[in-house]
Amino acid sequence: MINKNKNLKILRNVSLKDYTTYKIGGLAKYFFIAENNEDLIEAIKWAKDKKIPFFILGNGSNVLFSDKGFNGLIIKIKTSKIEILKNKNNKCDVLSEAGVNLSDLINFLTENNLEGLEWAAGIPGNVGGAVYGNASAFGKKMSDFVKEVEVLDTNNLKQKKLSLKQCQFSAKNSIFKKKKNLVILSVIFSFKKGNKEEIKKRVKECLIYRAKNHPNYPSAGCVFKNYILKKNDEKIFKKFPELNIFKKNRTIPAAYLIEKCNLKGKQIGKAKISEKHSNFFVNLGGAKAKDILKLIDLTKKEVKNKFNIALEGEIIVINT
Ligand SMILES: Cc1cc2nc3c(=O)[nH]c(=O)nc-3n(C[C@H](O)[C@H](O)[C@H](O)COP(=O)(O)OP(=O)(O)OC[C@H]3O[C@@H](n4cnc5c(N)ncnc54)[C@H](O)[C@@H]3O)c2cc1C
Repeated sequence: MINKNKNLKILRNVSLKDYTTYKIGGLAKYFFIAENNEDLIEAIKWAKDKKIPFFILGNGSNVLFSDKGFNGLIIKIKTSKIEILKNKNNKCDVLSEAGVNLSDLINFLTENNLEGLEWAAGIPGNVGGAVYGNASAFGKKMSDFVKEVEVLDTNNLKQKKLSLKQCQFSAKNSIFKKKKNLVILSVIFSFKKGNKEEIKKRVKECLIYRAKNHPNYPSAGCVFKNYILKKNDEKIFKKFPELNIFKKNRTIPAAYLIEKCNLKGKQIGKAKISEKHSNFFVNLGGAKAKDILKLIDLTKKEVKNKFNIALEGEIIVINT
């Protein structure tokens, strides 16, 4: 379907299975791929004119769409520019548009002898999605490298720049999760200069670790955030002395709690709590969103009953 006024190629009834790493989800009533900011703005205007909801999609690696699909417009951001802005002494500022895949950014950095993002090798997301959720692994996170984020405010369709502080990053969180009207257009990162062979080696090590430790069935990564201990959690250690090993880091891996509730391998329909990594709930082939959601509910209940810990979801569930 072509929007005649703006020449936007808005597609109809597109399967969301094809645009998510979960391979789950019904049809998006309308679907648009934005290759530049102008098209993105036009698509948002189009949805506003029609008074229908819209949803910004990156690489779809952290989302679970309903089996009923999405009754509105999905806007997949597919911008692709990466450029070096400032190259000074030991540091370098790099601008990346939101639609750039993390692996492409890591390849660009490696080619330019810039280090810092090797830990993110193998995360199948885009820069926009990774900054939105402050993606992290091996003790590092996106916010360690962010200098500035350019956003579009969908309330007034104006663009503005947010400093690192204004992004309010914390563990797997940012202002973008709270303020749904902000769409990330591009990010300026700061990286240090390094040695290409060493960078390549670290990237390879991360990829090998992931291949060994993560399931190879479709998923959206970790379902729950790891549990960050609060001051009044001390009684947990009295009741469960085995948790003492996590006291120093103040974080209990969700995978550990799930495993201790004997949920590893639990299956509902074609959805399964991975035996390889129990915070990955995988699609064995043909899983429904409702099966994954049932596993999520069950896990929350069991962990709450056993440890009195309320697990917080990491994947974004869209039920519109
Ligand atoms: C096998 C596997 C391994 C993974 N490993 C990790 C890991 O180690 N660490 C980790 O943190 N995550 C991991 N993930 C989860 C996921 O890959 C990351 O969270 C990734 O950064 C999400 O990016 P995305 O582009 O796929 O976002 P999407 O899934 O497309 O979107 C996620 C959210 O971000 C929003 N969003 C996307 N782009 C924008 C934008 N431009 N502006 C505003 N909002 C936007 C969406 O609306 C949505 O709410 C893993 C996933 C898989 C499948």
